[in-house]
Amino acid sequence: MSDRLLILGAGPTGLGAAYRLGQVGHENWSIRERNGYVGGLSASFRDDRGFTWDVGGHVVFSHYPEFDRFFEEMTRGEVFRHERKSYIRIASRWVPYPFQNNIRHLPPELLEECLQGLEEASRRPGPPDTTNFLAWNVSRLGRGITRCFLQPDNEKRWACPLDMLSATWVGDRVSPVDYGRIVENVRLERDDISWGPNKTFQFPRHGGTGAIFEAMVPRLGERLRLSREAVSIDPRARTVRFSDGSQESYDALLTTIPLDHLLGRIEGAPEPLVASARRLRRADGLIVGIGLNKPVPTDKCWIYCPDAAAPHFRTTYFSNYSPFNAPDEEHYSLMCDISHSDLRPRNRDTIVEETIQGLIATGILAPEDRDAIVSTYRIDAPYTYPVPTLERDAILDALHAWLEPLGIHSRGRFGAWLYEIGNMDHSVVMGMQWVDSILSGERENVWLDRV
Ligand SMILES: Cc1cc2nc3c(=O)[nH]c(=O)nc-3n(C[C@H](O)[C@H](O)[C@H](O)COP(=O)(O)OP(=O)(O)OC[C@H]3O[C@@H](n4cnc5c(N)ncnc54)[C@H](O)[C@@H]3O)c2cc1C
Repeated sequence: MSDRLLILGAGPTGLGAAYRLGQVGHENWSIRERNGYVGGLSASFRDDRGFTWDVGGHVVFSHYPEFDRFFEEMTRGEVFRHERKSYIRIASRWVPYPFQNNIRHLPPELLEECLQGLEEASRRPGPPDTTNFLAWNVSRLGRGITRCFLQPDNEKRWACPLDMLSATWVGDRVSPVDYGRIVENVRLERDDISWGPNKTFQFPRHGGTGAIFEAMVPRLGERLRLSREAVSIDPRARTVRFSDGSQESYDALLTTIPLDHLLGRIEGAPEPLVASARRLRRADGLIVGIGLNKPVPTDKCWIYCPDAAAPHFRTTYFSNYSPFNAPDEEHYSLMCDISHSDLRPRNRDTIVEETIQGLIATGILAPEDRDAIVSTYRIDAPYTYPVPTLERDAILDALHAWLEPLGIHSRGRFGAWLYEIGNMDHSVVMGMQWVDSILSGERENVWLDRV
């Protein structure tokens, strides 16, 4: 119990660990954060017009009772509970999410293409093709649904071709297929929107998603240091050097730094491992917020947008999550998620205007809504989506096999580089379980089993 524990990064993973350390009463630990604020990708920002913005569309849903307790304690019940009202905007139609269950809303020629592909897929013998994520989608849902929706939607989000992704990560992130039910939905003209772990979700009343994590700050006191970036790690001496020149020692280190950065900062890391960490793929994010001087025209939550006419893959009616995300009820806010990468570059300087044009082209805004725009806000967020490529798991196994015996434990969205356990609930619980593993030898189920 006297081990010195050092946590790098005060995002959900690091703060989950800090919360657990407080619960068990361990004394010898501290947490260091590069930014001048906590929350990482789950932080929120308020602009000078009174709009609150997240780093892309965040909603709270949970797989774990430990996270539920953490969330309840941080928000003290000051939350809104919502039913998901999510759509795909395609061919000027609104198709309720999940897409494949609601294809009856498509125009006749697209519906025909999707049904034909589904029919072919349903006749395919054996398990789905797991060669890659593209082949997997075609074999499960057919060429029609893949061409119309799954491929353009996913390629926008991952910012790379889908045959670079593996098919082994999906879990509860992709809706399962029931051919009979899909055909029945079309025949009976029935909407089928119940699937998914985020069918209902919560959102803090005030301060955006970031408020959940800001609530940890008063508990951390001197243990938290902001604006302190870890710049190098000496694994033999078990010390970390920071951007302000300070140095600290550890017995065990929890790092939530993106794995490729981490390897680049460890003194004496073998060059082949450093090079393999650089092969881990990611999408970078640009978040565009649009604040309008109008009452919100719909109760929709978010909209997927596979259409190439718009740069974003998702638009969130963010003031529908909490009215306090906008200055008052005479205003509403849209938040758009854009991914980019070396393979799919985007121009930061023109992205706000391109997004507005895309919103108009896809009918989410009317041309005259331009006059009602009173705020635009851009968040440049490198490292938003850890891409589950075909070679990812082999790279991760080799990296952790070297890091773990050195007492360097890399966890969290980009520390573990596992999209399938990359949400806030996973991250907080990953941090908690790391503490239990270090102090009590318990198994880190979330990280090890990826569930
Ligand atoms: C667009 C988008 C939408 C999302 N939507 C949802 C959602 O709806 N629901 C959900 O549950 N989750 C969602 N997430 C996931 C959520 O944001 C992550 O689960 C969570 O933020 C991961 O926490 P983390 O601590 O692992 O990493 P991060 O949030 O990335 O935090 C890591 C921290 O480490 C710090 N750091 C990095 N390098 C250093 C260094 N050298 N020294 C010191 N500190 C350093 C960073 O500044 C950061 O604060 C979404 C994420 C994105 C990008």
